[in-house]
Amino acid sequence: MVDADQTFVIVGGGLAGAKAAETLRAEGFTGRVILICDERDHPYERPPLSKGYLLGKEERDSVFVHEPAWYAQNDIELHLGQTVVAIDREARSVRFGDDGTLVHYDKLLLVTGAEPRRLDIPGTGLAGVHHLRRLAHAERLKGVLTALGRDNGHLVIAGAGWIGLEVAAAAREYGAEVTVVEPAATPLHNVLGPELGELFAELHGEHGVRFHFGAQLTEIVGQDGVVLAARTDDGEEHPAHAVLAAIGAAPRTGLAEAAGLEMADRAHGGGIAVDEQLRTSDPDIYAAGDVASFPHGLFDTRLRVEHWANALNGGPAAARSMLGRGTAYDRVPYFFSDQYDLGMEYSGWAPPGSYDQVVVRGDAGKREFIAFWVKEGRVLAGMNVNVWDVTDPIQRMIRSGAQVDTDALADPHVPLESLAR
Ligand SMILES: Cc1cc2nc3c(=O)[nH]c(=O)nc-3n(C[C@H](O)[C@H](O)[C@H](O)COP(=O)(O)OP(=O)(O)OC[C@H]3O[C@@H](n4cnc5c(N)ncnc54)[C@H](O)[C@@H]3O)c2cc1C
Repeated sequence: MVDADQTFVIVGGGLAGAKAAETLRAEGFTGRVILICDERDHPYERPPLSKGYLLGKEERDSVFVHEPAWYAQNDIELHLGQTVVAIDREARSVRFGDDGTLVHYDKLLLVTGAEPRRLDIPGTGLAGVHHLRRLAHAERLKGVLTALGRDNGHLVIAGAGWIGLEVAAAAREYGAEVTVVEPAATPLHNVLGPELGELFAELHGEHGVRFHFGAQLTEIVGQDGVVLAARTDDGEEHPAHAVLAAIGAAPRTGLAEAAGLEMADRAHGGGIAVDEQLRTSDPDIYAAGDVASFPHGLFDTRLRVEHWANALNGGPAAARSMLGRGTAYDRVPYFFSDQYDLGMEYSGWAPPGSYDQVVVRGDAGKREFIAFWVKEGRVLAGMNVNVWDVTDPIQRMIRSGAQVDTDALADPHVPLESLAR
Protein backbone atom coordinates (compact mmCIF):
# COMPACT_ATOMS: atom_id res chain seq x y z
CA MET A 1 0.00 0.00 0.00
CA VAL A 2 1.51 3.31 -1.07
CA ASP A 3 1.45 6.25 1.33
CA ALA A 4 1.63 9.29 -0.95
CA ASP A 5 3.27 11.49 1.68
CA GLN A 6 6.66 11.13 0.06
CA THR A 7 7.50 10.87 -3.64
CA PHE A 8 10.85 9.62 -4.86
CA VAL A 9 11.50 10.09 -8.57
CA ILE A 10 14.11 8.12 -10.49
CA VAL A 11 15.23 9.45 -13.88
CA GLY A 12 16.74 6.68 -16.01
CA GLY A 13 15.63 3.09 -16.30
CA GLY A 14 18.89 1.23 -16.67
CA LEU A 15 20.29 -1.22 -14.15
CA ALA A 16 21.04 1.49 -11.59
CA GLY A 17 17.49 2.89 -11.79
CA ALA A 18 15.76 -0.50 -11.59
CA LYS A 19 17.94 -1.64 -8.69
CA ALA A 20 17.36 1.64 -6.84
CA ALA A 21 13.58 1.16 -7.15
CA GLU A 22 13.91 -2.41 -5.90
CA THR A 23 15.97 -1.27 -2.91
CA LEU A 24 13.51 1.47 -1.93
CA ARG A 25 10.78 -1.14 -1.60
CA ALA A 26 13.08 -3.73 0.01
CA GLU A 27 14.02 -1.13 2.64
CA GLY A 28 10.34 -0.58 3.41
CA PHE A 29 9.75 2.76 1.69
CA THR A 30 5.97 3.19 1.39
CA GLY A 31 5.85 6.45 -0.56
CA ARG A 32 5.40 6.82 -4.33
CA VAL A 33 8.26 5.60 -6.51
CA ILE A 34 8.18 7.02 -10.03
CA LEU A 35 10.67 5.70 -12.57
CA ILE A 36 10.91 7.58 -15.87
CA CYS A 37 12.94 6.37 -18.83
CA ASP A 38 13.24 7.51 -22.43
CA GLU A 39 13.66 3.93 -23.67
CA ARG A 40 10.53 1.93 -24.51
CA ASP A 41 11.87 -1.34 -23.16
CA HIS A 42 11.64 -2.26 -19.50
CA PRO A 43 14.97 -1.80 -17.67
CA TYR A 44 17.54 -4.27 -19.00
CA GLU A 45 21.18 -5.22 -18.58
CA ARG A 46 23.59 -4.15 -21.31
CA PRO A 47 26.47 -6.67 -21.07
CA PRO A 48 24.66 -9.35 -23.16
CA LEU A 49 24.22 -6.83 -25.99
CA SER A 50 27.84 -7.31 -27.04
CA LYS A 51 28.06 -10.98 -25.99
CA GLY A 52 25.42 -13.71 -25.67
CA TYR A 53 22.49 -11.74 -27.07
CA LEU A 54 24.53 -10.41 -30.01
CA LEU A 55 25.71 -13.94 -30.71
CA GLY A 56 22.16 -15.26 -30.68
CA LYS A 57 22.95 -17.47 -27.67
CA GLU A 58 20.77 -15.60 -25.17
CA GLU A 59 17.09 -14.85 -25.56
CA ARG A 60 15.76 -11.30 -25.60
CA ASP A 61 13.70 -12.02 -22.45
CA SER A 62 16.83 -12.91 -20.48
CA VAL A 63 18.25 -9.37 -20.46
CA PHE A 64 15.53 -7.69 -18.39
CA VAL A 65 16.26 -6.73 -14.77
CA HIS A 66 12.75 -7.64 -13.59
CA GLU A 67 9.68 -9.26 -15.11
CA PRO A 68 7.39 -6.56 -16.55
CA ALA A 69 4.73 -7.41 -13.94
CA TRP A 70 7.18 -6.78 -11.09
CA TYR A 71 6.84 -2.98 -11.40
CA ALA A 72 3.09 -2.91 -10.80
CA GLN A 73 3.38 -5.59 -8.13
CA ASN A 74 5.79 -3.34 -6.26
CA ASP A 75 3.88 -0.12 -6.87
CA ILE A 76 6.60 1.32 -9.07
CA GLU A 77 5.03 3.89 -11.40
CA LEU A 78 6.83 3.26 -14.64
CA HIS A 79 6.84 5.83 -17.46
CA LEU A 80 8.63 4.31 -20.45
CA GLY A 81 9.44 6.13 -23.68
CA GLN A 82 9.32 9.45 -21.80
CA THR A 83 12.22 11.89 -21.62
CA VAL A 84 12.72 14.09 -18.58
CA VAL A 85 13.47 17.50 -20.06
CA ALA A 86 13.87 19.73 -17.00
CA ILE A 87 14.36 19.78 -13.25
CA ASP A 88 12.98 22.68 -11.25
CA ARG A 89 15.04 22.52 -8.07
CA GLU A 90 13.12 25.28 -6.31
CA ALA A 91 9.71 23.73 -6.91
CA ARG A 92 11.25 20.23 -6.59
CA SER A 93 9.64 18.94 -9.75
CA VAL A 94 10.63 17.34 -13.01
CA ARG A 95 8.99 17.82 -16.38
CA PHE A 96 8.71 14.92 -18.79
CA GLY A 97 6.97 13.52 -21.84
CA ASP A 98 5.44 15.12 -24.91
CA ASP A 99 2.72 16.82 -22.89
CA GLY A 100 5.15 18.33 -20.37
CA THR A 101 3.80 16.42 -17.35
CA LEU A 102 5.08 17.88 -14.09
CA VAL A 103 5.74 15.65 -11.14
CA HIS A 104 6.82 16.75 -7.68
CA TYR A 105 9.65 14.96 -5.89
CA ASP A 106 10.84 14.88 -2.32
CA LYS A 107 14.00 13.09 -3.41
CA LEU A 108 15.29 12.71 -6.94
CA LEU A 109 17.76 10.16 -8.28
CA LEU A 110 19.57 10.80 -11.56
CA VAL A 111 20.71 7.56 -13.20
CA THR A 112 20.82 8.79 -16.77
CA GLY A 113 23.81 6.66 -17.78
CA ALA A 114 26.00 7.38 -20.75
CA GLU A 115 25.72 7.54 -24.52
CA PRO A 116 28.13 6.42 -27.24
CA ARG A 117 30.56 9.02 -28.50
CA ARG A 118 30.04 9.77 -32.18
CA LEU A 119 32.71 9.88 -34.87
CA ASP A 120 32.95 13.45 -36.09
CA ILE A 121 34.16 12.68 -39.61
CA PRO A 122 32.71 12.70 -43.13
CA GLY A 123 30.46 9.73 -43.78
CA THR A 124 29.43 9.20 -40.18
CA GLY A 125 25.76 9.64 -41.11
CA LEU A 126 25.73 6.69 -43.55
CA ALA A 127 23.23 3.96 -42.74
CA GLY A 128 26.03 1.41 -42.38
CA VAL A 129 27.63 3.23 -39.44
CA HIS A 130 26.59 1.72 -36.10
CA HIS A 131 26.79 2.31 -32.35
CA LEU A 132 26.04 -0.11 -29.54
CA ARG A 133 24.28 0.96 -26.39
CA ARG A 134 20.65 -0.06 -26.63
CA LEU A 135 18.73 -3.26 -27.22
CA ALA A 136 17.57 -1.92 -30.59
CA HIS A 137 21.21 -1.25 -31.58
CA ALA A 138 22.11 -4.85 -30.70
CA GLU A 139 19.15 -6.21 -32.68
CA ARG A 140 20.24 -4.20 -35.72
CA LEU A 141 23.89 -5.17 -35.33
CA LYS A 142 22.96 -8.82 -35.04
CA GLY A 143 21.33 -8.59 -38.48
CA VAL A 144 24.37 -6.76 -39.87
CA LEU A 145 26.82 -9.38 -38.54
CA THR A 146 24.70 -12.21 -39.88
CA ALA A 147 24.69 -10.63 -43.35
CA LEU A 148 28.42 -9.84 -43.24
CA GLY A 149 29.21 -13.42 -42.21
CA ARG A 150 27.04 -14.84 -44.98
CA ASP A 151 28.47 -12.54 -47.69
CA ASN A 152 32.10 -12.48 -46.57
CA GLY A 153 31.65 -8.80 -45.75
CA HIS A 154 34.01 -6.46 -43.91
CA LEU A 155 33.37 -4.74 -40.61
CA VAL A 156 35.64 -1.89 -39.55
CA ILE A 157 35.56 -1.12 -35.83
CA ALA A 158 36.80 2.22 -34.55
CA GLY A 159 38.20 1.64 -31.06
CA ALA A 160 39.83 -1.37 -29.36
CA GLY A 161 38.08 -0.92 -26.02
CA TRP A 162 35.86 -3.54 -24.39
CA ILE A 163 32.86 -3.05 -26.68
CA GLY A 164 35.00 -2.88 -29.83
CA LEU A 165 36.78 -6.11 -28.91
CA GLU A 166 33.65 -7.99 -27.85
CA VAL A 167 31.93 -7.07 -31.11
CA ALA A 168 35.08 -8.06 -33.02
CA ALA A 169 34.89 -11.49 -31.38
CA ALA A 170 31.17 -11.81 -32.17
CA ALA A 171 31.72 -10.69 -35.77
CA ARG A 172 34.43 -13.32 -36.25
CA GLU A 173 32.08 -15.95 -34.86
CA TYR A 174 29.57 -14.91 -37.53
CA GLY A 175 32.35 -15.22 -40.13
CA ALA A 176 32.75 -11.52 -40.98
CA GLU A 177 36.13 -9.99 -41.89
CA VAL A 178 37.13 -7.57 -39.13
CA THR A 179 39.59 -4.68 -38.95
CA VAL A 180 39.97 -2.72 -35.72
CA VAL A 181 41.41 0.79 -35.94
CA GLU A 182 42.88 2.08 -32.69
CA PRO A 183 45.01 5.19 -31.99
CA ALA A 184 46.95 3.56 -29.13
CA ALA A 185 49.65 0.91 -29.62
CA THR A 186 47.66 -1.90 -27.96
CA PRO A 187 44.00 -2.69 -27.24
CA LEU A 188 42.53 -1.52 -23.91
CA HIS A 189 45.59 0.63 -23.36
CA ASN A 190 44.02 3.03 -20.88
CA VAL A 191 42.66 0.27 -18.67
CA LEU A 192 45.27 -2.49 -18.80
CA GLY A 193 48.41 -0.70 -19.97
CA PRO A 194 50.65 -2.08 -22.73
CA GLU A 195 51.69 -5.30 -20.92
CA LEU A 196 48.28 -6.94 -20.81
CA GLY A 197 46.81 -5.10 -23.80
CA GLU A 198 49.16 -7.10 -26.00
CA LEU A 199 47.52 -10.32 -24.83
CA PHE A 200 44.20 -9.20 -26.32
CA ALA A 201 45.91 -8.21 -29.58
CA GLU A 202 47.33 -11.76 -29.82
CA LEU A 203 44.03 -13.39 -28.92
CA HIS A 204 42.14 -11.52 -31.63
CA GLY A 205 45.00 -11.91 -34.12
CA GLU A 206 44.75 -15.70 -33.71
CA HIS A 207 41.06 -15.45 -34.54
CA GLY A 208 41.74 -13.50 -37.72
CA VAL A 209 41.08 -9.92 -36.59
CA ARG A 210 43.33 -7.35 -38.26
CA PHE A 211 44.48 -4.40 -36.15
CA HIS A 212 45.56 -1.03 -37.36
CA PHE A 213 47.19 0.60 -34.35
CA GLY A 214 48.41 4.19 -34.09
CA ALA A 215 45.71 5.44 -36.45
CA GLN A 216 42.26 6.98 -36.41
CA LEU A 217 39.44 7.01 -38.91
CA THR A 218 39.23 10.22 -40.92
CA GLU A 219 36.49 9.36 -43.41
CA ILE A 220 33.91 6.71 -44.12
CA VAL A 221 33.53 6.45 -47.86
CA GLY A 222 30.09 5.59 -49.17
CA GLN A 223 27.76 5.78 -52.09
CA ASP A 224 23.96 6.03 -52.05
CA GLY A 225 24.03 5.61 -48.29
CA VAL A 226 26.11 2.42 -48.45
CA VAL A 227 29.49 2.11 -46.73
CA LEU A 228 32.32 1.14 -49.09
CA ALA A 229 35.55 1.82 -47.19
CA ALA A 230 37.06 3.51 -44.16
CA ARG A 231 40.09 5.82 -44.41
CA THR A 232 42.63 6.48 -41.67
CA ASP A 233 44.83 9.48 -40.94
CA ASP A 234 47.93 7.70 -42.27
CA GLY A 235 46.40 7.47 -45.73
CA GLU A 236 45.26 3.84 -45.63
CA GLU A 237 41.91 2.69 -46.90
CA HIS A 238 40.20 -0.39 -45.45
CA PRO A 239 37.39 -2.15 -47.29
CA ALA A 240 34.20 -1.88 -45.23
CA HIS A 241 30.56 -2.80 -45.63
CA ALA A 242 29.73 -1.61 -42.13
CA VAL A 243 31.46 0.45 -39.45
CA LEU A 244 31.02 0.28 -35.69
CA ALA A 245 32.00 3.38 -33.73
CA ALA A 246 33.15 2.01 -30.37
CA ILE A 247 35.09 5.03 -29.20
CA GLY A 248 33.74 5.28 -25.68
CA ALA A 249 30.74 6.79 -23.97
CA ALA A 250 29.96 10.22 -22.56
CA PRO A 251 27.95 10.66 -19.35
CA ARG A 252 24.43 12.01 -19.95
CA THR A 253 24.74 15.10 -17.80
CA GLY A 254 22.68 17.58 -19.85
CA LEU A 255 19.68 17.55 -17.51
CA ALA A 256 21.83 17.92 -14.38
CA GLU A 257 23.96 20.66 -15.93
CA ALA A 258 20.89 22.65 -16.99
CA ALA A 259 19.65 22.37 -13.39
CA GLY A 260 22.93 23.89 -12.16
CA LEU A 261 24.23 20.82 -10.34
CA GLU A 262 27.96 20.61 -9.77
CA MET A 263 29.88 18.62 -12.39
CA ALA A 264 33.12 16.70 -11.95
CA ASP A 265 36.26 17.82 -13.66
CA ARG A 266 36.67 16.34 -17.15
CA ALA A 267 40.17 15.24 -16.14
CA HIS A 268 38.42 12.84 -13.75
CA GLY A 269 36.05 11.56 -16.41
CA GLY A 270 33.39 14.27 -15.98
CA GLY A 271 29.93 13.27 -14.80
CA ILE A 272 27.68 14.55 -12.04
CA ALA A 273 29.77 15.23 -8.93
CA VAL A 274 28.45 13.39 -5.88
CA ASP A 275 29.84 12.87 -2.39
CA GLU A 276 30.70 9.50 -0.87
CA GLN A 277 26.99 8.89 -0.16
CA LEU A 278 26.11 9.69 -3.79
CA ARG A 279 24.49 13.06 -2.96
CA THR A 280 24.84 15.80 -5.56
CA SER A 281 25.42 19.47 -4.73
CA ASP A 282 21.64 19.65 -4.11
CA PRO A 283 20.76 17.77 -0.88
CA ASP A 284 17.53 16.40 -2.41
CA ILE A 285 19.15 15.05 -5.55
CA TYR A 286 21.32 11.93 -5.87
CA ALA A 287 23.18 10.32 -8.76
CA ALA A 288 24.61 6.85 -9.39
CA GLY A 289 25.78 4.48 -12.10
CA ASP A 290 27.64 5.54 -15.25
CA VAL A 291 26.69 9.21 -14.88
CA ALA A 292 28.03 9.78 -11.36
CA SER A 293 31.55 10.76 -10.31
CA PHE A 294 32.22 9.83 -6.69
CA PRO A 295 35.25 10.28 -4.42
CA HIS A 296 36.78 6.85 -3.90
CA GLY A 297 38.45 6.54 -0.50
CA LEU A 298 40.66 3.63 -1.56
CA PHE A 299 42.23 5.32 -4.56
CA ASP A 300 42.15 8.85 -3.21
CA THR A 301 40.56 10.26 -6.35
CA ARG A 302 37.20 10.81 -7.99
CA LEU A 303 36.06 7.93 -10.18
CA ARG A 304 33.32 7.64 -12.74
CA VAL A 305 32.88 3.93 -13.30
CA GLU A 306 31.14 2.75 -16.48
CA HIS A 307 30.59 -0.84 -15.43
CA TRP A 308 27.75 -3.18 -14.63
CA ALA A 309 28.72 -3.79 -10.98
CA ASN A 310 28.78 -0.07 -10.29
CA ALA A 311 25.20 0.25 -11.55
CA LEU A 312 24.16 -2.89 -9.68
CA ASN A 313 25.55 -1.65 -6.34
CA GLY A 314 25.48 2.12 -6.85
CA GLY A 315 21.71 2.29 -7.53
CA PRO A 316 20.90 0.56 -4.21
CA ALA A 317 23.52 2.63 -2.34
CA ALA A 318 21.90 5.84 -3.61
CA ALA A 319 18.44 4.52 -2.66
CA ARG A 320 19.63 3.91 0.92
CA SER A 321 21.07 7.43 1.03
CA MET A 322 17.73 8.82 -0.14
CA LEU A 323 16.16 7.06 2.85
CA GLY A 324 18.74 8.58 5.22
CA ARG A 325 20.47 5.21 5.66
CA GLY A 326 23.49 5.91 3.48
CA THR A 327 27.02 4.79 4.10
CA ALA A 328 30.19 5.62 2.19
CA TYR A 329 30.09 3.99 -1.25
CA ASP A 330 33.55 2.54 -1.67
CA ARG A 331 33.13 -0.71 -3.59
CA VAL A 332 36.27 -1.93 -5.33
CA PRO A 333 35.55 -1.28 -9.03
CA TYR A 334 34.85 -4.56 -10.85
CA PHE A 335 34.04 -5.63 -14.37
CA PHE A 336 34.09 -8.67 -16.60
CA SER A 337 34.38 -9.52 -20.26
CA ASP A 338 34.03 -12.59 -22.50
CA GLN A 339 35.75 -12.86 -25.85
CA TYR A 340 35.90 -16.20 -27.75
CA ASP A 341 36.88 -18.72 -25.05
CA LEU A 342 38.53 -16.12 -22.84
CA GLY A 343 36.63 -15.00 -19.77
CA MET A 344 38.06 -12.45 -17.41
CA GLU A 345 37.26 -10.36 -14.35
CA TYR A 346 39.09 -7.21 -13.29
CA SER A 347 39.01 -5.63 -9.85
CA GLY A 348 40.56 -2.33 -8.82
CA TRP A 349 41.84 0.69 -10.65
CA ALA A 350 45.35 0.97 -12.10
CA PRO A 351 45.59 3.13 -15.22
CA PRO A 352 48.99 3.44 -16.95
CA GLY A 353 51.31 5.58 -14.83
CA SER A 354 49.77 4.53 -11.51
CA TYR A 355 51.68 1.23 -11.08
CA ASP A 356 55.34 0.26 -11.19
CA GLN A 357 55.09 -3.48 -11.83
CA VAL A 358 52.77 -6.11 -13.33
CA VAL A 359 53.05 -9.47 -11.57
CA VAL A 360 51.73 -12.53 -13.40
CA ARG A 361 50.69 -15.67 -11.55
CA GLY A 362 50.04 -18.70 -13.75
CA ASP A 363 50.44 -19.34 -17.43
CA ALA A 364 49.89 -16.23 -19.53
CA GLY A 365 50.75 -18.22 -22.69
CA LYS A 366 47.84 -20.60 -22.02
CA ARG A 367 45.68 -17.66 -20.99
CA GLU A 368 45.05 -19.04 -17.52
CA PHE A 369 46.52 -16.62 -15.07
CA ILE A 370 46.02 -13.70 -12.70
CA ALA A 371 47.78 -10.39 -13.37
CA PHE A 372 48.36 -7.93 -10.54
CA TRP A 373 49.14 -4.26 -11.00
CA VAL A 374 51.38 -3.33 -8.12
CA LYS A 375 52.82 -0.09 -6.78
CA GLU A 376 55.56 -0.18 -4.14
CA GLY A 377 54.53 -3.73 -3.24
CA ARG A 378 50.82 -2.90 -2.86
CA VAL A 379 48.20 -4.42 -5.15
CA LEU A 380 46.14 -1.77 -6.96
CA ALA A 381 44.27 -4.08 -9.33
CA GLY A 382 44.00 -7.71 -10.34
CA MET A 383 42.68 -9.43 -13.43
CA ASN A 384 41.87 -13.15 -13.47
CA VAL A 385 41.80 -14.71 -16.92
CA ASN A 386 40.11 -18.11 -17.22
CA VAL A 387 40.74 -18.59 -13.47
CA TRP A 388 37.66 -18.36 -11.29
CA ASP A 389 36.50 -17.73 -7.72
CA VAL A 390 39.41 -15.44 -6.84
CA THR A 391 37.64 -12.07 -6.82
CA ASP A 392 37.29 -12.05 -3.02
CA PRO A 393 40.99 -12.46 -2.15
CA ILE A 394 42.00 -10.06 -4.95
CA GLN A 395 39.61 -7.41 -3.67
CA ARG A 396 40.76 -7.98 -0.08
CA MET A 397 44.36 -7.37 -1.12
CA ILE A 398 43.40 -4.16 -2.88
CA ARG A 399 41.29 -3.00 0.04
CA SER A 400 43.87 -3.76 2.72
CA GLY A 401 46.64 -1.83 0.93
CA ALA A 402 49.11 -4.12 2.70
CA GLN A 403 52.56 -4.84 1.27
CA VAL A 404 52.75 -8.26 -0.41
CA ASP A 405 55.75 -10.37 -1.27
CA THR A 406 55.68 -10.18 -5.08
CA ASP A 407 57.54 -13.49 -5.45
CA ALA A 408 54.83 -15.21 -3.43
CA LEU A 409 52.19 -13.33 -5.44
CA ALA A 410 53.66 -14.74 -8.67
CA ASP A 411 53.86 -18.29 -7.30
CA PRO A 412 50.66 -20.32 -7.94
CA HIS A 413 51.73 -22.75 -5.19
CA VAL A 414 51.31 -20.08 -2.52
CA PRO A 415 47.56 -19.92 -1.73
CA LEU A 416 46.15 -16.54 -2.66
CA GLU A 417 44.12 -16.56 0.55
CA SER A 418 47.34 -16.59 2.59
CA LEU A 419 48.40 -13.32 0.91
CA ALA A 420 45.05 -11.57 1.32
CA ARG A 421 44.55 -10.21 4.78
C1 LIG B 1 27.14 -3.10 -25.19
C2 LIG B 1 27.58 -2.95 -23.76
C3 LIG B 1 28.23 -3.99 -23.13
C4 LIG B 1 28.66 -3.87 -21.83
N1 LIG B 1 29.31 -4.90 -21.23
C5 LIG B 1 29.75 -4.79 -19.96
C6 LIG B 1 30.46 -5.87 -19.34
O1 LIG B 1 30.71 -6.90 -19.95
N2 LIG B 1 30.87 -5.72 -18.05
C7 LIG B 1 30.63 -4.59 -17.35
O2 LIG B 1 31.03 -4.49 -16.20
N3 LIG B 1 29.94 -3.54 -17.91
C8 LIG B 1 29.51 -3.62 -19.20
N4 LIG B 1 28.83 -2.58 -19.79
C9 LIG B 1 28.59 -1.36 -19.00
C10 LIG B 1 27.28 -1.42 -18.22
O3 LIG B 1 26.27 -1.94 -19.00
C11 LIG B 1 26.92 -0.01 -17.75
O4 LIG B 1 27.89 0.38 -16.83
C12 LIG B 1 25.52 0.05 -17.13
O5 LIG B 1 24.56 -0.19 -18.11
C13 LIG B 1 25.27 1.42 -16.52
O6 LIG B 1 23.97 1.43 -16.00
P1 LIG B 1 23.22 2.81 -15.66
O7 LIG B 1 21.91 2.40 -15.10
O8 LIG B 1 24.12 3.70 -14.90
O9 LIG B 1 23.04 3.54 -17.06
P2 LIG B 1 22.27 3.09 -18.38
O10 LIG B 1 22.25 1.61 -18.50
O11 LIG B 1 22.88 3.87 -19.50
O12 LIG B 1 20.77 3.57 -18.15
C14 LIG B 1 20.40 4.93 -18.17
C15 LIG B 1 19.03 5.06 -18.76
O13 LIG B 1 18.56 6.39 -18.57
C16 LIG B 1 17.93 6.83 -19.76
N5 LIG B 1 17.91 8.30 -19.76
C17 LIG B 1 18.96 9.14 -19.92
N6 LIG B 1 18.56 10.43 -19.85
C18 LIG B 1 17.21 10.41 -19.65
C19 LIG B 1 16.22 11.41 -19.51
N7 LIG B 1 16.53 12.72 -19.55
N8 LIG B 1 14.94 11.02 -19.34
C20 LIG B 1 14.60 9.72 -19.29
N9 LIG B 1 15.51 8.72 -19.41
C21 LIG B 1 16.79 9.06 -19.59
C22 LIG B 1 18.79 6.18 -20.83
O14 LIG B 1 18.19 6.14 -22.10
C23 LIG B 1 18.98 4.80 -20.24
O15 LIG B 1 17.91 3.96 -20.54
C24 LIG B 1 28.41 -2.66 -21.11
C25 LIG B 1 27.75 -1.60 -21.76
C26 LIG B 1 27.34 -1.74 -23.06
C27 LIG B 1 26.64 -0.60 -23.75
